[in-house]
This record gives sequence, structure tokens and C-alpha cells, in this order.
Amino acid sequence: MNSQSQNSSPNSEPLSFELCHATTDDDHLSIQSISEVIYSLFQVDNGSIKLSGCSIEPKPVLKLKLKSHSEASEIIYFTNDGEINHDFANSLRLDEFEEIADEPTWLKAPSKRAELDQLLELAQTKLAEDFQRVFQATVFWCKHVDGKLTIEIGEQSGFIKFSYWAQRIVDGLDSCPPYLCEYSGKSSYQIVSDDLGNITVPQALKTCEITQKKIVESQIAACSVSGRQVAITELWTCPASGKKLLETFAKKCSKCDQSVSPEAIERGFCIVCRSLNSADPGNPTIGRILENFPVTQSGVGWKESACQSYAVVTCRRRLMRLLFVIDLTDDSITIVRKSNLLGLRWKDIDVEQLK
Ligand SMILES: [Zn+2]
Repeated sequence: MNSQSQNSSPNSEPLSFELCHATTDDDHLSIQSISEVIYSLFQVDNGSIKLSGCSIEPKPVLKLKLKSHSEASEIIYFTNDGEINHDFANSLRLDEFEEIADEPTWLKAPSKRAELDQLLELAQTKLAEDFQRVFQATVFWCKHVDGKLTIEIGEQSGFIKFSYWAQRIVDGLDSCPPYLCEYSGKSSYQIVSDDLGNITVPQALKTCEITQKKIVESQIAACSVSGRQVAITELWTCPASGKKLLETFAKKCSKCDQSVSPEAIERGFCIVCRSLNSADPGNPTIGRILENFPVTQSGVGWKESACQSYAVVTCRRRLMRLLFVIDLTDDSITIVRKSNLLGLRWKDIDVEQLK
């Protein structure tokens, strides 16, 4: 039967054909039957998977018959996503549909009417001049399912979104996508939790060589000294080089007493202490030292060097050398040391002596 869309196309030009509607008894395409098919795909270890926010609704599939020069008419199918081939159209079992006398009730909804109008407009645009050859048009209202799966393991949850034609899911022609692990980019229908509680997939798990915990691979890194693969939480960052290593391999600078990676130490001195350069006593760092320890105002031969995390400042005062370590995260003076003028042996001093 003629539909409201029969007499005019979305751009108000008259359609040259009758637009019919077809539906089928598709009660078997229920959320329950679809969820059963989807659930059967997944294995969630020590957790659960459930549908959330799932909707199933009829969407239009447009079948157009075009006049052809040969005896056989030409048939073209469109969905709102574009043209579909005949195999795809057949998979929606359109041959089981029957034309209905009236428009389906859901076309009373403006959004559904707009969906149909957009489909006709798309077909008209794609076919261009060939649209004039259309002599028969049928809209098959096929169930389409849009949903989200929620996976829960312990305190964590993950999600999978899907959007498919219901018939193709039930017939196994389309499959809900596997779970995509956000930490590794790997995906699987088997979903597990690592020993830190992160939801992931089995092929993304690695074992920390220190704790023996199975952890998602993005949370594992190599110790820069030993090469051992360990949880990044087990690694310590060298303040001088930025390298990550197991802290047991760190070495202390004999001059500034800072722990650094072995490669940042040479002859017992860290890279900062080895690169001290003459500094202007008027610079802010030295100014802070002068302010905190007024006796240093008689200091001479100021030198300074810094890495990303700390700065080392030295000066000579009377018969000793003084050394200050400044934590650059908050500019606090964390260590004060002294040595004789040769600077061979350094030891901490009571800062009250300098005040
Ligand atoms: Zn040092």
C-alpha cells in the first residue's frame, strides 16, 4: 500500500513508484535469544558478563527494482549505511517477509520516519539518474540490535559495544566483537583479571620476575641494569639518568650521597657531581642557601650542577668545602655536607653549625 513517503521523496520531488512495506513474524529474534548466542562466545574467568543498555528495533532495508533493457529487472538493496549485496540481503531472510496493507505503526515516530526518509534520499543520491528507472520499491523492516556488554571481575568492569542485524547474529553470520584489552590492545573472547585486578585477556599477561605475579604486559618493564622483566611498580627511577631499575642495583654518590643508577656513577661520583661548573652567587639557588645559612656568605668559589631531580652546589669556606643538595621538586635543601679542601672525603654535618 502507498505510504506517506510514496507521493514525494525527501527532497519533495514526486516518486515514480509505489512504496510498500514488509514485515515478518520475527518474535524469535528476541533479546533473550540474542543474548544467549552472545554469552556463548565468551568465557569470563572468576567474573560475569551481562547485557546492558540493549535495544532491538526494526530498521529499514530498501529493495528497489529497476527497469532494465534486458528482460530481467535489476534489483538493488540499500540500508541506511549504504548499498548491500544480494548475499547480505538474503542473509536477512527477506523472502520470509510479507507485504503489509498499512504502514507499520512505528512510522508514527518522527525519528523512524526520518530514518526512512534518509534511506530513500541515500538511494536517490547513489542511483542518481538511474533512480528514474525504479518501478517497484519495498521496505523490509528487519530487527537490528544495539547493545553493550558489561564484564565484571572483582571491583573492575569492562565494556563491549555491538551493533548488528539480529538475524545475522542468531544465524552466526555476525559475531559480537571480542573484548579489547585497554592496556595491551589485544583482544579475546576469554577474559581474565591480572593479579593487580586489571581486566585483560590471557595473551596479554606476563609474569613479574620478582613477585611472580601475572600482570598485563603494559605494566611490566625491564630493569635497565639486569634486564629482568618486572612490574613497573617494582622499578625505581634514577634521578640523574631517568633510567628505571631495581633499587637494589642503585649506587650512592660518595660526594652528594644521592642514589643513582650504576651507569650514572663514575669513580664514585654521580654525573651531577662530575659536572659542577662555576656559578654566580647571585643566582636564586645559591641565594636560597645564603638565606638559610648566613655563614655561607663568606663562601667563595661557588659551583653548581643539576639533573632533572636535584641540584648540587658547592663552595669553599675557610678550610673546608661545603656541599648542598637541593631537591628540585620543591627547592628544599635536603643535604648539607663538608670535606677538607681537597674534597676527597665528604660527610654530613649538623646544619645548626652553619646557622
Ligand atoms: Zn653526586
